[in-house]
Amino acid sequence: MSVRSGIGYDSHRLVARRRLILGGVELDSELGLDGHSDADALCHAVTDALLGAAGLGDIGEHFPDSDDRYRDADSIELLRDAVAMVRAAGYEPVNVDATVVLERPKLGAARAAMRERLAQAIGIESGDVNVKASTGEGIGFVGRREGVAVVAIATLRDA
Ligand code: MG
Repeated sequence: MSVRSGIGYDSHRLVARRRLILGGVELDSELGLDGHSDADALCHAVTDALLGAAGLGDIGEHFPDSDDRYRDADSIELLRDAVAMVRAAGYEPVNVDATVVLERPKLGAARAAMRERLAQAIGIESGDVNVKASTGEGIGFVGRREGVAVVAIATLRDA
């Protein structure tokens, strides 16, 4: 069996009057993520990790933010589309792990819902999707609450 891994990284700016959606789950927050799509940095990092593992380039190549079709796009749908490309290339997702770096709010109970939504979009069990949380400890753009960063890794096997 051949196993392949890919990494993903994404960050988005935190601004007023935007929703904070991570892993397809809306969090209660006075600041939300700015971007062309729904700016779901967790979905974007996971999507890039899966595309990377399959050798299929990156999210910007497949879903360019210059394309009006992706304005306010639901990033769970983009993830679903990317997984279809991964499967068409002959690979099967095995597991995904991610770390969301944000100062607040705490992900808390939303983490289970994020795992569930991501797992459904990828077509694996929620036990095969892990979401961790970390903070900026008050330093850097995360610590100053200017933005959110996410790193992810995905593993694929031959279908
Ligand atoms: Mg993004």
